[in-house]
Amino acid sequence: MQEFSFRTRIFFGEGALEGLRRVKNRRVLIVTDRFMVEAGVPDKLTGYLEGCQVSVFADVKPDPPVEVVAQGVAALRESGAQVMIAVGGGSVIDAAKIIRAAAYAMPEGQRQEVEECYAIPTTSGTGSEVTEYAVISDAQKGVKYPLASEELQPPIAILDPALVMSAPPRVTADTGMDVLTHALEAYVSTGANDFSDALAEKAVSLVFRFLPLAYQDGTDLLAREKMHNASCMAGLAFNSAGLGVCHGIAHTIGGKFHIPHGRANAMVLPWVLQYNADLDHARSGAYSKAAKKYQRMAKIADLPAYNVRIGVSNLVRAVQDLNRLLQIPSTLKAHGIDPREAEALKAEMVQAALQDGTTATNPRPVSEADVLKIIQKTIS
Ligand code: NAD
Repeated sequence: MQEFSFRTRIFFGEGALEGLRRVKNRRVLIVTDRFMVEAGVPDKLTGYLEGCQVSVFADVKPDPPVEVVAQGVAALRESGAQVMIAVGGGSVIDAAKIIRAAAYAMPEGQRQEVEECYAIPTTSGTGSEVTEYAVISDAQKGVKYPLASEELQPPIAILDPALVMSAPPRVTADTGMDVLTHALEAYVSTGANDFSDALAEKAVSLVFRFLPLAYQDGTDLLAREKMHNASCMAGLAFNSAGLGVCHGIAHTIGGKFHIPHGRANAMVLPWVLQYNADLDHARSGAYSKAAKKYQRMAKIADLPAYNVRIGVSNLVRAVQDLNRLLQIPSTLKAHGIDPREAEALKAEMVQAALQDGTTATNPRPVSEADVLKIIQKTIS
């Protein structure tokens, strides 16, 4: 038996912020970051919150460190908020999800229960607004911890493309490649199913079509809207199906070298597609299930895919071409990391990737040697 559930209510499209008008006469805590405050976003949201007493916690940093949780719980208690609104990129939404869960998990007497919670993404990338995952970092150890629990899943998501328009091309590129990686990993994961496949297929076709447009012109509202929807769909897909070793490696690379999550995924993805397809070992047409699914995905992305080998090759090439168009460096060296520094950490990174929860659902099992080869290719 399998299950696919859809717990988050989603308001989407131009004007979706109107969904906030349901919140009236409540104490509200907006969780966000400094950039959003400078851009006036909490004030904009407050305009929809009739009769509400609004507090703002704006101390979330990219790749939120564990310390932010205690600060956020303190801000939540102080505000006495009944409603929490997380507005920002995946870092803000993840931090808010953990703050809410941590405040609820406090002992009796100190427990703070948020009755309603809204996740409003301002990047089209993580899909965190619909997932039961949240990633927290230990900056000193250079480790990222993906947490997973149904309690973390936001009950309401608002996907308003207007909020993504300010994202600079660099953020658009990195986060957009995160969407593609979520969809491609979910599609071949051991947990893939008909429902997650449908979402992944739509997300991939939207990314190939609209990510270049959103990157080239951030004010293209249609491209922004389609990428926002793709991000959410890819989130729903991997929330159901799981991810794979690309994320396992990207988490450790991101943690060690402070590379944006989507960019780390983008660097590793072509190698993981090749590893999973395993074309070198396909004898007399007996291709792996992942290879056959990549061929199907190539067709969905309108790439030539007359047979499995051609389909896989063209999908890998299309990902590399997209990385080039988005000016994403193909290696850590090209990103500016000294390869000697990366070499010195590679044994540690291999262990971290193998232990990362996302690696468990990779379609092709991975050994230490396999992960090492992929990391080696990513270094230089
Ligand atoms: P981010 O939230 O770290 O934001 C990156 C930068 O972009 C920040 O400086 C932020 O202020 C800025 N920014 C955000 N929106 C903007 C806008 N509209 N205009 C201008 N600047 C804007 O980036 P992200 O990729 O959205 O999130 C990454 C985090 O999410 C990582 O910690 C990653 O591990 C995690 N993650 C979580 C999940 C999940 O399911 N929970 C999935 C994938 C990744």
